Amino acid sequence: MALDDARDLTGRTGPTGLPDPTDLAGASYPAYVYDLAGLARHATAIRSALGGTELLYAAKANPDAEILRALAPCVDGVEVSSGGEMAHVRKALPDVPLAFGGPGKTDEELARALALGVHRIHVESPGELTRLQHLGPAEVLLRANLPIDVPGAVLTMSGPFGMDEHALDECARRIASAPHITLWGIHAHLASGLDAPALLDVAGRITAWALPWLEARGVTEPEINLGGGMAVDYTDPTARFDWAAYGAGLSALSATLPPGTRLRVEPGRAVTAYHGRYVTDVLDVKSTRGETYVILRGGTHHLRTPAAKGHDQPFEVLAPRSGPAAKATLVGQLCTPKDVFARDVPVPPLEPGDVIAFTMAGAYAWNISHHDFLMHPRPAFHYLR
Ligand SMILES: *Cc1c(COP(=O)(O)O)cnc(C)c1O
Repeated sequence: MALDDARDLTGRTGPTGLPDPTDLAGASYPAYVYDLAGLARHATAIRSALGGTELLYAAKANPDAEILRALAPCVDGVEVSSGGEMAHVRKALPDVPLAFGGPGKTDEELARALALGVHRIHVESPGELTRLQHLGPAEVLLRANLPIDVPGAVLTMSGPFGMDEHALDECARRIASAPHITLWGIHAHLASGLDAPALLDVAGRITAWALPWLEARGVTEPEINLGGGMAVDYTDPTARFDWAAYGAGLSALSATLPPGTRLRVEPGRAVTAYHGRYVTDVLDVKSTRGETYVILRGGTHHLRTPAAKGHDQPFEVLAPRSGPAAKATLVGQLCTPKDVFARDVPVPPLEPGDVIAFTMAGAYAWNISHHDFLMHPRPAFHYLR
């Protein structure tokens, strides 16, 4: 089921999906345009589809303060992965519950989490737990790295993330003799890029392992954080993760679990990806050895997503000229062959000054990009409310 109408996909404007010219009047390119109203509708729909499952937003997908403020009324909390994110999110949203995860937490970060009253700390190793014990009372989930096979995953979060059964047992033993550490449950973000049936299957296997394990260690009203990783399909901008099926499946799963069990998820990409666009103009069009290149103002130092994921970033040409479409490669201004937004894609006739809007640029886009490479100006930011 698509939760969004077409307006959510393309911004708040008419059927062409172009930014309202009055919103960008006098604007210079490149510019990020975030549709905050559409984002809030999307997040509200996600939360209602999830029913009793709690929704945290993973700030690392897009920590823009305006995005955080738009999401705050629609989520149960925010997951942060560093001291920097923790300070930033706390400043933008003074009251929202925070969960603090991520490998390699320093003593300073842990101490700051306790001082800020972070709701849950997701402990990544027995060593981290020991350092936390010395800092003061804390409410924790243990991050599990379970040997669950996840076919179809884009990324598998094994390796350094979380703990195997042996390390989890070690943590539970230490917590048993540390009354100021409260064990609430298990955190398991095992893979990303999964559809609803695959994530439900993983959820079933996580809870099947975690609940007996927690019960044996005296945790009576356990919390299970199932992580994020809901699929975003960049080849089909109209596709959406099936939140309705996922929410219904989690409710059905929940009904089989001991009363008092709380399920929680922490998506990032599938929340914000659809409500950001990177809009820029054509500087040059040229043909080299039979290939057509469209050179755009800006580049992957602003929108690294296509380079990071190795895909063609979906886009729309604003006010396209009539004429036959032809294949071209859309590149930026950087002096590297990796500065490609989309390769060999059909475009209408293009000339310098024409404007292109890259869609699905609301997650892991600006904030993962290498802004300073080549020292071009930064983009403008516009917020549609
Ligand atoms: C990155 C991350 C998320 C969010 O993942 P998405 O793919 O953006 O949904 C959630 N939890 C943890 C621990 C993460 O590292």
